[in-house]
Amino acid sequence: MDRQQEFVLRTLEERDIRFVRLWFTDVLGFLKSVAVAPAELEGAFSDGIGFDGSAIEGFARVYESDMVAKPDPSTFQVLPWETPEGGHYSARMFCDIAMPDGSPSWADPRHVLRRQLSKAGEAGFTCYVHPEIEFFLLSTMPVDGTEPEPADNGGYFDQASHATATHFRRHAIEALEAMGISVEFSHHEGAPGQQEIDLRYADALTMADNVMTFRYVVKEVALTQGVRASFMPKPFTEQPGSGMHTHVSLFEGDRNAFHNPEDPYELSETGKAFVAGLLHYAREISAVTNQWVNSYKRLISGGEAPTTVSWGRANRSALVRVPNYSPGKASSRRVEIRTLDSACNPYLAYSVIIAAGLKGIEKGYELPPAAEDNIWSMNDAERKAAGYEQLPQNLGEALAEMEKSELLPDALGEHVYDFFLRNKRAEWDAYRRAVTPYELRTLLPVL
Ligand code: GLN
Ligand code: MG
Ligand code: MG
Ligand code: MG
Repeated sequence: MDRQQEFVLRTLEERDIRFVRLWFTDVLGFLKSVAVAPAELEGAFSDGIGFDGSAIEGFARVYESDMVAKPDPSTFQVLPWETPEGGHYSARMFCDIAMPDGSPSWADPRHVLRRQLSKAGEAGFTCYVHPEIEFFLLSTMPVDGTEPEPADNGGYFDQASHATATHFRRHAIEALEAMGISVEFSHHEGAPGQQEIDLRYADALTMADNVMTFRYVVKEVALTQGVRASFMPKPFTEQPGSGMHTHVSLFEGDRNAFHNPEDPYELSETGKAFVAGLLHYAREISAVTNQWVNSYKRLISGGEAPTTVSWGRANRSALVRVPNYSPGKASSRRVEIRTLDSACNPYLAYSVIIAAGLKGIEKGYELPPAAEDNIWSMNDAERKAAGYEQLPQNLGEALAEMEKSELLPDALGEHVYDFFLRNKRAEWDAYRRAVTPYELRTLLPVL
């Protein structure tokens, strides 16, 4: 037993923790959990906990359904809000998933990302990420297809008289910090009920775990405040959607590989080639960064979400932005990817953006000129003349791009790639066949 495992066992005893939740993530990005008694943990560390992989979305074909969850002791955290009357806390650990023979499971999104990060490591890079996570607080959560009720009436950066949101953010941030997740900024976002919480940067694997934890914590804390939280990309037709802008930097040792103070954008050749890679593959990775039929309602409607394949400095209509930062802070040079939404699978989304950027570096892709004009105000002809390709307009188009991709089978592994395409095709087909409230409202009375 190593020291981290010993620390976990000792903490369980000292804090009298009765349940340890073992967490992992399915291919679609849903959090899975199995609770074990502390007495079982020693065995779980050495042999893992067996489960039926065929019952988990994307995990296995039935004949190879036996899988093993192995807790990663470095992710041990006590769940701060679970202090039931008896005074017993629960704790959680993320797991890596293995096949019965001990080899890592190809279906495990955490393994997909680990594999991508070790490729980055071979090229000499460590990847750091920080997300700006947007979501809605709702006072109702209807399931009959009607619009929900936002929990407040606030707008961008509003403070006054939106007590629910302010209290909610304070409680949520306290819970996140108690679990070792540092928060940098938080504020009311543009739409009624919409909030944003930005996490302090961490390495990409830790951050993907943090995003999964974040969604869970935010939903739990919302319940304690009498409201509901949703990470759906675009719940309201007339309001902006919820993005998850993702800031990425690569480090070589302790040097930020994206930084070059001589360049007008203060971006190194490595940084430029990384962005060129992101743009080159933007259309084919879109099904992973924006994986739901609803994701494309956000991307096609402006509302400060990107619509085209483009980059710029201050330009909020661009897909990649090179944010200004405090001069002299070389280490914080980074690029902001604005496509991702709050309902992506963070392990897979980070895998594909890093794969795209690294390919740009490996192949030395050329960065097109920066877009410093407002792309939302251009019409299609103007956009075409400026050379901005459009992002896929819907999930079907994104899947067609994914099917043609050479990057993605390699970045995701064949198993996840095939499952993802099959699953998402089914989602797209079901959606296409459905007669919508929109059609009934606009056509039934007049036709
Ligand atoms: N909500 C916008 C999006 O969907 C972003 C708004 C902002 O942070 N400026 O990406
Ligand atoms: Mg922000
Ligand atoms: Mg925002
Ligand atoms: Mg941003």
